[in-house]
Amino acid sequence: MDLKGLKKVELHCHLEGAVRISTLTELAKAKKIDLPYSDPIKLKKSLCVVEPLKNLSDLLERLLRMRDLLDSEELYERVTFEYIEDSFNQGVRLLELRYNPVFAAEASPSLTLDRIHRGILSGIERAQKKYKIGVGLIGTLGRILPMNIVKQEMEFIIANKDTFCGIDLADKEDGFEPKPFAPYFEKAREAGLRITIHAGEINVPGASKNVYDAITYLYAERIGHGVRIFEDKKVMDLVKEKGIVLEMCPMSNWLSSAVDGGHPAHPIKKYLDYGIKVTINSDDPGLFGSSLIDDYKILAEHHGFTEKEFNRCNQIAFDACFIKDKEKYWV
Ligand SMILES: [Zn+2]
Repeated sequence: MDLKGLKKVELHCHLEGAVRISTLTELAKAKKIDLPYSDPIKLKKSLCVVEPLKNLSDLLERLLRMRDLLDSEELYERVTFEYIEDSFNQGVRLLELRYNPVFAAEASPSLTLDRIHRGILSGIERAQKKYKIGVGLIGTLGRILPMNIVKQEMEFIIANKDTFCGIDLADKEDGFEPKPFAPYFEKAREAGLRITIHAGEINVPGASKNVYDAITYLYAERIGHGVRIFEDKKVMDLVKEKGIVLEMCPMSNWLSSAVDGGHPAHPIKKYLDYGIKVTINSDDPGLFGSSLIDDYKILAEHHGFTEKEFNRCNQIAFDACFIKDKEKYWV
């Protein structure tokens, strides 16, 4: 099967975790960071997460190191352009990129939320002059940040709602349940932003309840991952009945050990057969040293996905995309 040739929609990709290895290497060299530059395999291992980690904290630590390399508006312009270019070359025709404004700005005192946003918008503009691809931006709130910072992020995203199509909540789930964030998502909804929430991602107590709460209290139309909903049939049925879309990321879920038993144990095919709307995404391809095509390969090799299943998932993603209808290219 020609996986690259399939027309694709990607809904779930974090810009801070989507930087090309070649760009990361160049930036790390410029900052004189001590890495094994002469050995490509060792270099990839030091920059990326290439095998399952014991917990999400390890993964977040690497993401932090990667984020710190992006310390200017110009770099945000560049990495945005590069990711859109790479996406287009993998068959993606509709792409939603997300980033966490405060998390991104922590890389350098000279960065402001406005500068980062301006850099990203310029990168999108440059890419769209070259490639016929629809691109939407989602603003991510960090659930581990102090509430006053989360409020600041939410206000920034709402103030820029003409250039954001949606809002998200991400980071560690255990100890950070969705309900306390309800007032922020109420405001975002009133402002016309579409809502997706990371929940049920990791094998921690309460993961499936977080999916229930994200739908019930935060108005989630889509769930980032939702892998663990098999724990509770009531949650599976709620997701199915409400037509909630799961943004599933097989490579990421394997690396974060979201389910025991490796790739074959991932529930994506089970959910699809159950009538749940699932989509295929890369999450943090730069952080994993992978690409969206690798996620498609996993599904073809371990779950028997054929063109039929891939097209079905991409049609679901097309319909669930937050990008305005007039900007939805599908060519
Ligand atoms: Zn994510």
